[in-house]
Amino acid sequence: KLKDRESRCLVLGLDNSGKSTVVDWILASYKNRPRQLVTPTVGFQIHTVPFQNHSVQLWDIGGQSTLRPYWDNYFDKTDVLLWVIDAAAAARLGESVDELKTILQNRDRLGYNCRIIVLVNKKDLVADLDPVIVRLKTDLSEMLKLENVPIEVCPTSALTGDGLDGLMPMIVEKSA
Ligand code: GDP
Repeated sequence: KLKDRESRCLVLGLDNSGKSTVVDWILASYKNRPRQLVTPTVGFQIHTVPFQNHSVQLWDIGGQSTLRPYWDNYFDKTDVLLWVIDAAAAARLGESVDELKTILQNRDRLGYNCRIIVLVNKKDLVADLDPVIVRLKTDLSEMLKLENVPIEVCPTSALTGDGLDGLMPMIVEKSA
């Protein structure tokens, strides 16, 4: 069935977390597009990326706080929510986790089959990532236990591509 080979992946996170850069890395890696200097996401863009007989749709939606009320409109039929966090912006980690929690608490909109992948991005800027990961998992753990939401946490650098090789296989696997 063709439908089984289509995955819709929503790329969300606070502004400046690296969403467009992650998408740019994917397009460079799987669509042979030269890497581009990206500017923060304004509005949204949809990209279709072929991968392993799948067609992966990446929805890159702006993270500015003024746009956040509209995120809800894109949740229908999402297979994977890719949540991008700027590991170097320690002061905004709480805000980012709160936004993710808000989304997860309104799961009737997102759909209960939607899988969640958190990218702890800009790892190249952080000397020791462990405290960030620990804090993130602690912040999320209570709710994750309650809601029984499976969640993957992946340290990445969208600039260098470090940690991103496994992402598309994971998206396709989780959409199955
Ligand atoms: P968006 O608003 O979430 O789409 O964020 P962008 O993708 O536009 O990235 C915001 C800024 O962070 C840009 O200047 C990117 O070059 C930079 N950036 C994104 N990912 C990384 C990363 O992994 N490492 C570093 N050092 N910079 C990054």
